[in-house]
Amino acid sequence: MKIYSDPRLLSLGIIHGTVSRQAGNMREKTNQEKLFNQLNIPADKILRLHQVHGDTLVTILDNASAQKQQNQPALTQADGWIIRPAGWGASVLTADCVPVFLWDEKAGLNAIVHAGWRGVAQFLPQKAARKMKNLGAKGKLYAYLGPHIQKCCFEVQQDTACQFDPQCVIRQNGKLFVDLTKEIIRQLSQAGLDPKDVYAPDWCTCGNKEQFFSYRRDHLRDVQISFIYKP
Ligand SMILES: [Zn+2]
Repeated sequence: MKIYSDPRLLSLGIIHGTVSRQAGNMREKTNQEKLFNQLNIPADKILRLHQVHGDTLVTILDNASAQKQQNQPALTQADGWIIRPAGWGASVLTADCVPVFLWDEKAGLNAIVHAGWRGVAQFLPQKAARKMKNLGAKGKLYAYLGPHIQKCCFEVQQDTACQFDPQCVIRQNGKLFVDLTKEIIRQLSQAGLDPKDVYAPDWCTCGNKEQFFSYRRDHLRDVQISFIYKP
């Protein structure tokens, strides 16, 4: 098992990353529990969502709201978190979609977002960055884009391509590809981030079967987890 993370965020003491497929299908809650036990993170302190490819974010600013969120009988329908209290974390599930991590200079506020092409087309990564600023993020914002389907594999039809900025659509041999990475960096820079502060390695979920589940490649419902946890 490997955890794909950003050294800058690790150095701030925030445990986070995207977990490779060896840890199992993370739709299974028992696999999640096993993983967090292994990492010595309390599994019941990692908040979960019912993802709907929308543009809603859940904001958790203190211990009480985290506990209240965790006590809800059903998972909240949303696609990302902005989270502050220590001792809590949040997660998203992906199998080609982009796990977007955001934090401020002191990691007072952290965000983790599930951004598939629909979420990106709805500007979800940018909304998360703007919301963090409105909530009083301290200083500069930084971002890390975890493993996701890259432009090499993300072929789309015209109806999808036309929902993106033309700069992020590639035409090649009569085919169309969307560069989600580039589009997210574009959106984040519009929200005031320096593109140099966005770490976006070219780890392609679709192109690396050893490490990642990919819906595009295998058409299965298996997913990897991404999480962020402030001890
Ligand atoms: Zn690829």
